[in-house]
Amino acid sequence: MELETKCLHSGYTPKNGEPRVLPIVQSTTYTFDSTEHIAQLFDMPTEYMYSRFANPTVDAVEKKIADLECGVGAMCTSSGQSANLLAILNLCNAGDSFISTGTIYGGTVNLFAVTLKKLGIECIFVDASADEDTIHKAFKPNTKAVFGETLANPAIEVFDIEKFAKVAHANNVPLIIDNTFPTPILCRPIEFGADIVTHSTTKYMDGHAVQGGGVIVDSGNFDWTKSGKFPEFTEPDESYHGVVYTEAFGNMAYIIKARMQLMRDFGCYPAAHSAFLLNLGLETLPVRMKQYCENASKVADYLETVDIVSDIKYPTKFTGVQRQLADKYLKGGSGVITFTIQGGRDVAVRFMNGLKLASNEVHVADIRTCVLHPASATHRQLTDEQLISAGVNPGLIRLSVGLENVNDIINDLKQSFESLK
Ligand SMILES: *Cc1c(COP(=O)(O)O)cnc(C)c1O
Repeated sequence: MELETKCLHSGYTPKNGEPRVLPIVQSTTYTFDSTEHIAQLFDMPTEYMYSRFANPTVDAVEKKIADLECGVGAMCTSSGQSANLLAILNLCNAGDSFISTGTIYGGTVNLFAVTLKKLGIECIFVDASADEDTIHKAFKPNTKAVFGETLANPAIEVFDIEKFAKVAHANNVPLIIDNTFPTPILCRPIEFGADIVTHSTTKYMDGHAVQGGGVIVDSGNFDWTKSGKFPEFTEPDESYHGVVYTEAFGNMAYIIKARMQLMRDFGCYPAAHSAFLLNLGLETLPVRMKQYCENASKVADYLETVDIVSDIKYPTKFTGVQRQLADKYLKGGSGVITFTIQGGRDVAVRFMNGLKLASNEVHVADIRTCVLHPASATHRQLTDEQLISAGVNPGLIRLSVGLENVNDIINDLKQSFESLK
């Protein structure tokens, strides 16, 4: 099936007389005929058992997202942060390291550079534009993964998935891609060699700014048995009566291990109602993404005509290497544009305060147009050095173009630029 059809039909197929719309199964618990049956589930949780591991409503949405991303399985989480946290913890223990570009979401930089460090896991930051040899040299014997964002938030830079996949695979480790901004409608990283895909579903997937969430998708392509680097996949797990994930679950070893070990112990599983709302967003995702791309591209054209605006970053405006990467990986520019206003931080703040339609929000990818000043919000916790490596200038504005009529969006920007004079 094509993406539009998958968005409406994957994950839930009602049988004769059942509800047409995905039902909300609002129950934390399930009942069984015998104690022996429950005992078996503790050895091997193959059925719904308790709401901390799995729920039928969430499960349907997981299957839909796995299908959209061309993966073999998925696990929803209560936020994008917990998706990236568990994606890494499923591979790295204290004493391990992983490689990431610095050009990623501010919250993820903090998670990687500060919090994971406290847990004894080192993040080795490399430049996204580094050549294969430089990336290769950043590897240590304890390096267990490589991480990047398809279209970086808020730097708006396209990540060279194939380049990083090649080096990761040459070092026998998987590539994890945060695909939040393009969504599977504009890019499917697994088709270019990514092994694991994560999302903050809070953004375009939910789309209506009603529900936070995250998801991890397993491509099923990575061979955990090959190098001996991942003994937790290939040796008995004593916390599950000696299960060996690769033997018991084959190419779903990664995503099932994430659920059985990490979801069990960290418990950041979404509620059924959250998954229901996410599913509503997913149903219209292809239509919305198309319109986001169209509106944002017109707004980027308008911004080019404004004399105090520079450094417009939006895929349709790319030149050089970024142009080639956007053409290769993206089927559209998505809805987020960044630009810099001459005059720095103060003028940027005055411009933002002058907007009437666009709201000042700590959010991006809302259905309504919204703006954010990363240097005083999402990236506030970063040092100047980290700001620059995340592609953030103090005068930078992140404009998340919504689905209003594009003329109204442009008129709003116009009146605020005029009010600066
Ligand atoms: C927002 C965001 C996250 C974090 O997601 P939350 O749902 O806010 O926890 C991670 N990655 C990217 C690219 C994001 O934009």
